[in-house]
Amino acid sequence: MRKQIVAGNWKMNNDYVDSELLISKLLEHHHHSTTDVIVAPPFTNILAVTNSLKGSSIAVAAQNMHYAESGAFTGEVSASMLTSVGVHTVILGHSERRAYFNETDALLAKKVDTALAHDMRVIFCFGEELADRKAGNENEVVASQIKNALFHLPASAWSQIVLAYEPVWAIGTGETATPDQAQDMHAFIRKTLADQYSSALADEVSILYGGSVKSANAKEIFSKPDVDGGLIGGAALDAEHFSAIVNSF
Ligand code: PEP
Repeated sequence: MRKQIVAGNWKMNNDYVDSELLISKLLEHHHHSTTDVIVAPPFTNILAVTNSLKGSSIAVAAQNMHYAESGAFTGEVSASMLTSVGVHTVILGHSERRAYFNETDALLAKKVDTALAHDMRVIFCFGEELADRKAGNENEVVASQIKNALFHLPASAWSQIVLAYEPVWAIGTGETATPDQAQDMHAFIRKTLADQYSSALADEVSILYGGSVKSANAKEIFSKPDVDGGLIGGAALDAEHFSAIVNSF
């Protein structure tokens, strides 16, 4: 059975004090559930958040990491730095990393390999831009992003991969893919995996939707059979909203 997952990407928000406050509110609202809950704070707060969440079922993810083991990469963070502070999940390929930091599928393939070599879980993000959707190319774009960054992996690696479909036109814009648009794309992604590997493997991979998910629309989006949860941006900065999204399954 694939997992239901709700992950909150805080992006470059929340200083140390804000982070601690948000975590304490999240813990007040958090009740045990079958949904895996993940928060991704900025690097400066990742150790503090990990410590504050010890003993709870909420996991911590990094928003990015470098592919190299160590070395002269000023400003970067490695996989072993993350695992040494108890962080075993990393978000890779977010559209903001692709757009503002020139991350390509080829670079992301290297990051994925490094994360897996450190036994980390990867939340791999991808999605088409508005122009792609307007031109009817969304399936082609999404299939090529997945293929270029992930299809070199052996089937056994996929137990560590979570996919996050995030149409770029829906991120931080208030525009959401309709539940049917999300379902159609998630079904297409699952078929793409089934064609390359097997339907058994495709059935086990959690595919999250991201793009302006709020407490008001989460239930309908999560009710779709191929949507296994969400990657949440803006609404993850508010404990009540985020918890309501978690409880939308
Ligand atoms: C995101 O950045 O991954 C995201 C989905 O953001 P938002 O929920 O704010 O659209």
